[in-house]
Amino acid sequence: MNAILPLEPDIATPRSRQVRQNGLMCPSQLNVDLAAIDANLALAGKLNPGRAVLLPVKADAYGHGIVPVARHVEAVGSAQWLGVAEVSEAEQLRAGGVGLPVLKFSPCFPDELDRAIAARLTLCVGDSAGITAAQEAAERAGTRHPVHLKVDTGMRRVGAEPAGAVALARQIADSPSLILQGVFTHLPISDTPEGNDYTRDQLARFLATVDAIRDAVGEIPLVHAGNSGAVLGHDLAGTNLIRPGIISYGCRADAATPWEGLTPVARWTSRISFLKRVPAGETVGYGRTWTAPRDTWIATVPVGYGDGYSRLFSNRGRMLAGGRSHPIAGRVCMDQTMIDLGPGDPKVAVGDEVVLLGRQGGEQITVEELAGLMGTITYELMCLITARVPRIYA
Ligand SMILES: *Cc1c(COP(=O)(O)O)cnc(C)c1O
Repeated sequence: MNAILPLEPDIATPRSRQVRQNGLMCPSQLNVDLAAIDANLALAGKLNPGRAVLLPVKADAYGHGIVPVARHVEAVGSAQWLGVAEVSEAEQLRAGGVGLPVLKFSPCFPDELDRAIAARLTLCVGDSAGITAAQEAAERAGTRHPVHLKVDTGMRRVGAEPAGAVALARQIADSPSLILQGVFTHLPISDTPEGNDYTRDQLARFLATVDAIRDAVGEIPLVHAGNSGAVLGHDLAGTNLIRPGIISYGCRADAATPWEGLTPVARWTSRISFLKRVPAGETVGYGRTWTAPRDTWIATVPVGYGDGYSRLFSNRGRMLAGGRSHPIAGRVCMDQTMIDLGPGDPKVAVGDEVVLLGRQGGEQITVEELAGLMGTITYELMCLITARVPRIYA
């Protein structure tokens, strides 16, 4: 299938629309390879054949842009479901013309339920009060509304105790305005080998709970537990839907996770905005934290922590320009960062591409490398890229 969404900044962020209208190129942009998301979803599906695929698109699709990503996977059919954290995210999807079923991963506040139902958001419930509130909201809307019962097998975040799950399933099944469409759980340590025993135990207790629910109320259409770590590293027999998030966006959980075969999705680029010769002994940037060890060429790149390019990269990170890797010189500013090109002919010019994340020439900066420099996980790194950076789709 051809690219569903052409290079079209207008469907990305308000900022990119503004950039377009002004006829200006953006100082930096996040290029999102939608076909790479399909490839990663296909890998997840190949490892778990015969299961429906739910793509988590919470937090603006892990920073990649919720509506364009969702529209794409719907158009090509690489996912059959979407998952969100907030009611407003479901509203964004519907306003963007997305028709796929959307599951909320956590329970609603009672005052959110009417809007959730209006957005055709499949509800998550985990206790009796939540079921009653959902039932009343569905009655008000005059519909029968689907819910998924969340069972807490060890995350200790939201969900029903396994021992109480059958009674809750009965309450849902007995309600004239609710449909028990799914039962699910979440696995907090599925992404590390040290957690294998805990995860296996969780899955066993989950499947036993599902069996007990089936005995009480009959067949359950959707049974799911597989987040990225479990999709890659665990036996998900007994479940029929998977929820791979971070791997769909081509990222490992952290630099140490030995996940192979993922296709990178995001490439963050900017352009050299200024080039100057700095003599040995002079300092560069705020706080004067970097001193030129020799006469050198310094390039300025118009991106900084105001874009989500962390100040923690100061004097530690690197960027690619002219097909080579160059260290950051001094502190990352809000809107600009300087890199040290070295003493020789810089072989680059103002306007030339700079890569903050991704490949250039034979070099590559990975999400895992950047997240590692920040002392955090790839999830947070991608979520921190701000709305000032237009997302461009190819
Ligand atoms: C975010 C989330 C996922 C996806 O997790 P990944 O680690 O990104 O694969 C799956 N299920 C639930 C309930 C979540 O909140």
